[in-house]
Amino acid sequence: MALPKSLIEGHRRFLRDRHAPERGRYIQLAELGQAPTAMVIACCDARVDISAIFDTEACELFILRNVANLVPPYEPEGKYHGTSAAIEFAVQVLKVPHLIVLGHSRCGGVAAYRQKVRDKVPERGFIGSWLTMLDNLKIDESEIFEFGDETAFEFAAIRSSLANLRTFPFIKKPEKEALLTLHGLHFDLASGAVLALDEAKGGFTELDAA
Ligand SMILES: [Zn+2]
Repeated sequence: MALPKSLIEGHRRFLRDRHAPERGRYIQLAELGQAPTAMVIACCDARVDISAIFDTEACELFILRNVANLVPPYEPEGKYHGTSAAIEFAVQVLKVPHLIVLGHSRCGGVAAYRQKVRDKVPERGFIGSWLTMLDNLKIDESEIFEFGDETAFEFAAIRSSLANLRTFPFIKKPEKEALLTLHGLHFDLASGAVLALDEAKGGFTELDAA
């Protein structure tokens, strides 16, 4: 089967409307390498359009996407740690000053876990094993009351990923030295609003409320 026509046409529009007027900048980016403002760890969900949400240009964000925007704990003896490898590259090589875990509403990965669909996937399946990272999450009762079960669970998953990030020695150190800041954000698909976790106060509040 051929590549969908919409993609070929979209690429044509990219070359004409975006690349051609900024050809110099693209050539410069290719030569200078990347220096992103932040690394974003987001879900694979096709509805989460990260560049659109933050209105960013090429080179601003180093993005990693996986099922349910999860970060595993530091496991140096593991074999193929795609997520940890990307984090290591962003922090140690690119030296990004910000690390963002971006969750979202109606997350299929979280919903699948909560509905125990994972029990139906093959025993040796990848998703079932990946989603065990959602086992034993601590759900905040007041967030269930304020935001509902599903969102409170998504919030807890974001907190858990932040906690797991802090098990990496190469994150702990720059964070302590204030060279790296961790952020937990939650994007609402329907309203477009982004909530930010205030770790000092403990809750999620509107990013744009200030
Ligand atoms: Zn998701």
